[in-house]
Amino acid sequence: MARQVGFSRPRRESRQIMVGKVPIGGGAQVSVQSMTTTKTSDVEGTLSQIYALYGAGADIVRCTCNDSEAAEGLASIVPRSPVPIVADIHFHYEMALAALEAGVACLRLNPGNLRKPEEIKLVASEAKDRGVPIRIGVNAGSLHPDLYKKYGGAVPEALVESALYELSLFGEVGFEDVKISVKASSVPLMIESYRMLAEATDVPLHLGVTEAGPPPAGLIKGTAGIAALLAEGIGDTIRYSLTADPVEEAKAGRQLLEALGLRERVGLDLIACPSCGRTEIDVIAVASKVQNAMEKLNLPIQVAVMGCVVNGPGEAREADLGIAAGKHKGHLFIKGKIVRVVPEDRMVEELIQEAQNLVREGVEARLAAADENASREAELDRAELLQLKGSDVNNAESKVNLIRKRLADEGD
Ligand code: SF4
Repeated sequence: MARQVGFSRPRRESRQIMVGKVPIGGGAQVSVQSMTTTKTSDVEGTLSQIYALYGAGADIVRCTCNDSEAAEGLASIVPRSPVPIVADIHFHYEMALAALEAGVACLRLNPGNLRKPEEIKLVASEAKDRGVPIRIGVNAGSLHPDLYKKYGGAVPEALVESALYELSLFGEVGFEDVKISVKASSVPLMIESYRMLAEATDVPLHLGVTEAGPPPAGLIKGTAGIAALLAEGIGDTIRYSLTADPVEEAKAGRQLLEALGLRERVGLDLIACPSCGRTEIDVIAVASKVQNAMEKLNLPIQVAVMGCVVNGPGEAREADLGIAAGKHKGHLFIKGKIVRVVPEDRMVEELIQEAQNLVREGVEARLAAADENASREAELDRAELLQLKGSDVNNAESKVNLIRKRLADEGD
């Protein structure tokens, strides 16, 4: 058997921050990020895309927070997302405050767009109070005009100075929970900027070639920049920026890390919701039971364990197979379509049996074998759960009220 070759160069030592439950830097495995392309105010559409990204290998997902509707959407998305959510802030510091009210796990601020020191420090203070990290996301295309003028263009020194200046503003309010990116669409510019930044600070670094374009050129540019730095030991989290379905970004990120030996290869792809106020079961226990039983079978499919039938089959509609909990029942679904309703105490066994049938017979055959009463039963169960718990089990409405009050106060 061929000898496995790994990188001999050690990874750059960086301090660690936590984006939700995902550690970044400080020796943690390199994580994969992507970004939704839906309107964040479209809660169901955004969650469905987040689940697809999660299934494709994303550890963290960024959503735009460009207006109050987006911020209100985040209040409903965050508690139902299987991965930590980063809010992308554009020009308005108020949106950063609103995203914090919505409970996001991280903010991304662009120093070229949000420029007033007092606003930046206000956001950093509030993030500090809540224990929420911030990514300083410098972008060569939207570099602060003063720096552009000073250096005569977007050069590595300018990108690094922009990041370090923002970092110093954070330092003035004692905020250190930070990661930094210095992205450019030019691969050499991006590589040089990150190299320079890696020498200047121990803050964890988020790598990316921005506006890389559609595949295959976009994939090649992204890989050239990200892989070159990772091979030097630089980089704690990565994102491909492709003009394509973001699922392609997450897949590419995952595959790159596997190819570089920085992440383990995956066999069975089990996804599970984080559970929220809607669930009637212990999702963690059920997911680990499924994982233990199915790993031995080594089936090449994606399986979802979802805490409720109200949203589960829709959120995980990209999965080959899944189970969503109802009231003392399990709803088996294939590609988001309910095929059978089973008693709660048999849901794991039934799921495993269906997984084997699915691999043997294929999706079409198993959909054709669906119990014709299953959809109706699921509807009744869904209605019962909605009646029992109402439509706002995650208190999104109270967060929306806080967001509205906060934005009204800031507008005064
Ligand atoms: S319990 Fe239901 S709504 Fe909550 S995260 Fe799981 S699937 Fe989504």
